[in-house]
Amino acid sequence: MLAGIVERCAANEIQIAIIIEYTLRGYYSQVKGRNNDIIEILNLPYDFKYSCPLCGARDCAQFIGYYYREVIDEKGTYYKAMPIARYLCRRKGKALGVKHRTFSLLPYQLLPYSKYSIPFIINALRKVYGGENNSVKELLDYLAGFGEQKYIDLSNSVFYAFRELILTAIDKMLAMGFYKDLTMQMQTPSLRQRLRIFLSFAEDFSCYKTDPEIRGPCALGYDYYVRNGGYRKNAHFLFGTPSQFR
Ligand SMILES: [Zn+2]
Repeated sequence: MLAGIVERCAANEIQIAIIIEYTLRGYYSQVKGRNNDIIEILNLPYDFKYSCPLCGARDCAQFIGYYYREVIDEKGTYYKAMPIARYLCRRKGKALGVKHRTFSLLPYQLLPYSKYSIPFIINALRKVYGGENNSVKELLDYLAGFGEQKYIDLSNSVFYAFRELILTAIDKMLAMGFYKDLTMQMQTPSLRQRLRIFLSFAEDFSCYKTDPEIRGPCALGYDYYVRNGGYRKNAHFLFGTPSQFR
């Protein structure tokens, strides 16, 4: 689906979405160059010592370091090596022939297999399908005009992959039926109208399941994930498909 913007990720690794209290820039500045457990660095509300996300055992999951991936944040800033924390399930690590032995923690603003962050994608779509009603060409020209941000190499096909990602997210939301107001509003066959409704719904969304409360499209993604059971149930993501479901 996201052909052209796919990037490598550790094979056979379960991806878990996590809430962070930082922007991607803040996350990067806190974590880069460090090599201790991200749960300690960011004081995250996750305790994998008590229960391993892969096997459920106590004292099993072990922090094993970071892998690095490209990211474009909501402001269009490019990061060549955004650190992503990885863990080993020691129990499964010993068993040969087990598919998933490791898991990684993806900040909730990030999309599996894409350097474009969720807020960047939403902002791009908003320029075309939000109130401004720009053409796709106007959007691409606008992004190209970022000058020094030479990595914003958006093409028509990447833009349409963004649009497809959101249309898929809308279908996932409608299929689960979690968001009744949205379901009512989506009774229109017009794609443009559906995208507009989604963008406005996502923009105003608040997730009360976290402390502090989070807002906006990434909060909606996290809310969907948690409603589906989160990492304990190996839930699907609203935006994109993590490695375990590919
Ligand atoms: Zn385990």
